[in-house]
Amino acid sequence: MKQVIFNVGGALASYLEYDNKKILIDIGSCNSFNPITDFLVPLSEKRSAKTNNKFNIDQLIISHPHNDHLSTIEDFDKYFTADLVTCPNDNPGQEEKHKVKWSLVDNPSEEYVTYLRDSILPGRKPPLKPTNPINQFLYYIPPKECEGNNDLDGKNYTNNLSVAFYFRINGYKLFMPGDLMKDGMEYLIKHESSLRSKLAEGVDILVTPHHGLKSSFSTYLFDHIKDKKTRCLNIVPEQSTSEDSNRIVDSRYSSTEYCMGINNFSTRESVVCQKKTSTGHIYIDYNKSSYPVIEVINNDKELIKRFAN
Ligand SMILES: [Zn+2]
Ligand SMILES: [Zn+2]
Repeated sequence: MKQVIFNVGGALASYLEYDNKKILIDIGSCNSFNPITDFLVPLSEKRSAKTNNKFNIDQLIISHPHNDHLSTIEDFDKYFTADLVTCPNDNPGQEEKHKVKWSLVDNPSEEYVTYLRDSILPGRKPPLKPTNPINQFLYYIPPKECEGNNDLDGKNYTNNLSVAFYFRINGYKLFMPGDLMKDGMEYLIKHESSLRSKLAEGVDILVTPHHGLKSSFSTYLFDHIKDKKTRCLNIVPEQSTSEDSNRIVDSRYSSTEYCMGINNFSTRESVVCQKKTSTGHIYIDYNKSSYPVIEVINNDKELIKRFAN
């Protein structure tokens, strides 16, 4: 029961193993790190032989079709197959309101989106579903509604397509809402009573929506989380930025008002509520029952070892 949220600059990529499942959640990359070729391929080679020339994982999740969440899609396809692909799509066999309108996606003809549409999605059968309905839950706004209405700004279309995941891992609760914008987060929580009841059970680890940017901080989300704060840690998948950048992480994620800081970094003197991926890959071991053991790992080989053991 382990997870890593990779240091991929301003992008997002995460890999999770639990319940005998191997799950990739977004596959963005940066110049210095590719989660497929620098991590998953060497890890898979250490562990097992390929079947039919490719390695297999249980689920590939692409929360929404933005470059920073899918830029290694060709590398993935070269080395891996996934039993389940979970990504907003327009595949036949589902209601029109659930189909993505590709013309509204930012850069619809961009290389990675094209590859996703031409080589990954065809033949996959809707609806989007979890690998295990007991401990994995997914929520999304029907794409038709993301096009815009009184509550949703049409210019947030692509980010608001994000499929949000709630995982139960060894009693811990992990929430990963992709790049949902503030309006999308509120809309989804308002319209999905089952998400509301999950949030009311609590959130231990939050991977902050839309890279933790100020513009996406949702007090509505925290108002619906048990105790109005996360229990263990807020993880911000971001790029280190200068003061005057418009990509500024919201400082509230590091405040005890929004997280209890129950983790191995916190001491009596100082409570740690937030970790940023710009400091290194963030590795979480969920096996302990009192709190998850979290490490910041900068050495790629060391990270592979944690999973290979
Ligand atoms: Zn993003
Ligand atoms: Zn996005």
